[in-house]
Parts: sequence; structure tokens; C-alpha cells
Amino acid sequence: MSNIRLGIVGLGKIARDQHLGAIEATAGIELAAVASRNAQLESVHCFHDIEDMLASGVALDAVSLCTPPQGRFAQAKAAIAAGKHVMLEKPPGASLSEVYALERFAREKGVTLFATWHSREAAAVEPARELLAKRSIRSVSVEWKEDVRHWHPGQAWIWEPGGLGVFDPGINALSIVTRIMPESFHLVGSSLSFPANRAAPIAASLSFETAAGLPVSAEFDWRQTGPQTWDIRVETDEGPVVLTHGGSRLNVDGNARIIEEDREYRNLYKRFVALVASAQSDVDLSPLVHVADAFMLGRRLTVEAFED
Ligand code: NAP
Repeated sequence: MSNIRLGIVGLGKIARDQHLGAIEATAGIELAAVASRNAQLESVHCFHDIEDMLASGVALDAVSLCTPPQGRFAQAKAAIAAGKHVMLEKPPGASLSEVYALERFAREKGVTLFATWHSREAAAVEPARELLAKRSIRSVSVEWKEDVRHWHPGQAWIWEPGGLGVFDPGINALSIVTRIMPESFHLVGSSLSFPANRAAPIAASLSFETAAGLPVSAEFDWRQTGPQTWDIRVETDEGPVVLTHGGSRLNVDGNARIIEEDREYRNLYKRFVALVASAQSDVDLSPLVHVADAFMLGRRLTVEAFED
């Protein structure tokens, strides 16, 4: 089969940090075009936006959307209408209903829609999932604390409605927990801390329960300076199973297990190639459902204003 000819939309931080290298390293797919209002790449066709790209006549089979979640619906809809397969950065949209609609459009048009969760590709995730399937779980606690000034400097969209604030990284943790837990869980309470001058939270505290009543808790905070914390701790009858460093390292019953190098985005593109080849889609919205619930059940606290 010939290579999937791909267009990237939104040549920003994640496109440059991860997508370009992963596409280069993945068999069966090649970068053919970029659509970005303020950035260009040498050696591929460049356009101002997706509409120009789709209207150009440049041969494309698929589009990878690396733009902020707000506005991605219109881009994905246009790509699907033009018969292109679509890969979505996380979170897959600014609302649940728009992603449900995209899923339907893609099905009707017979193209692949892939809602990616890059953290699920972190090296410790599948080993933890396999281990936990065999163990009796007592509780889960997530601590996802990072310095927003370091990771998201000047990203105005992230503080706007639909930008998710601290849930932008927090949803990565939820994507891992929803993958490794043998049973589903639901939110029972949350409190969200909004800076006085912002429309999205800077911190969140979440409590969930499984159907059997086991507690799952999550603390997300963007005000952490110094060492950063991306940990998930699962207490089991046999001992603790701990994922650290965003799911790239695993500690089982106090013993560190060596984990391989970061392959998150290469795994995503490999899977996209496989989905297209088998005419399938992959749209799991469970992490976004938990975030939506956190906003629905959330007690709103106002905290100190945040300036970049
Ligand atoms: P970013 O640096 O702001 O880049 C997004 C790009 O999209 C911008 O450079 C911009 O390029 C384009 N864009 C189109 N419409 C825009 C708008 N209304 N506002 C701002 N930019 C717009 O953001 P990012 O960090 O790459 O994040 C993009 C997506 O990837 C988000 O969903 C995020 O959650 C996800 N992600 C980010 C990271 C990370 O470490 N940053 C990691 C994993 C996933 P032009 O101005 O040239 O059009």
C-alpha cells in the first residue's frame, strides 16, 4: 500500500516537539503539507489554514489536527467532508457533543477518525494494565502537578472556555487511569480553583468511586515549581503499583522496573496507519467525560489572579 499523504494543521509546540519526528519515523505515512497561519516548513506545501489546504488540490489522504481544542470541530468537519482521515490531538474537542458529531460524520463518510491519547502510549501503561487485571485494587490516587509557566508560556487559548486549564495536562492522567483500571469509575465530587482573572481552572481536586465503592482521587495543580509530579499510585492487596514520570516508569511492590524510551507519538502514528488500513476509527471519550463531570459537579473557588 502506498504511504498516507498527511497534512498537519497548527504548527505549534506539540507539532514541532513530537509530530514531525514521529511522522518521519513511521512507516506508511509521510508529511505532504502544513496549514498554519504563522508558521511554515521547508520541503512541504504550506497553507494559511485548512480551508486553503483542502481547496489547493494538493494530494492528501489524511489530516492531523495539532491546533487548540477550540476551533478543531470546524477543521475536522471540513477534513471529513473532503474525504480525509482525521487524527485529533488530545483533548479531542472542546465539548463532548461535537466529538460525537464528528464520529457520526466520519462513519457516514467512511473515513477513519482517531481521537488520540498520547499518555496511554507511555511505556508503563500497558504493563500496569496487565498487572492490575490480576490484582485486587484498594484505591487509586493521582498527583499531577506542574509549572504552567514552564509548560504553557503565553498560550492564551488554554485559559479560555474550552481550553480546559489544568485539565489540559490532567486529562492525560485520566486517560491513563481509564486505561489501566479493570473497572469503570464515576465522579462523586470536585472542587475547581479559578484564578480571579481567568476562565479556566489552575487547580482541581477530584473524587471518584468505582461501582464497588473503591476510591479514586486526583489532585491537579499548575502552581508547582521545582520538581514536577506526574504520578499515579494504585494500592492493591499485594502491594503498591506506582506509575511515575507521566506513566513512563513503573514501580511494583517497591521495586523499580526499567522502562523503555519514549515512543508515545510514534505509537500513535503507527496506530493511525493501522486504523486507516483496516478502515476503523478509535474514539474513546471516557477521559473527556470525567472532565465534563468535574465541571458539572465542581464547586468553584476563586483564587489569586494569574499572570504569565
Ligand atoms: P500551541 O503551541 O499554541 O500550538 C497550536 C497551534 O495551532 C498554534 O501554533 C497556531 O498556529 C495554531 N492555531 C490555530 N488556531 C489557533 C487559535 N485559535 N489559538 C492558538 N493557536 C491556534 O499549542 P500546543 O501546545 O501545540 O497544543 C496544541 C494541542 O496539542 C492541544 O490540544 C494540547 O492539549 C495538545 N498537546 C500539547 C502538548 C504540549 O506539550 N504542548 C502535549 C500533548 C498534547 P498558527 O498561529 O500558525 O496557526
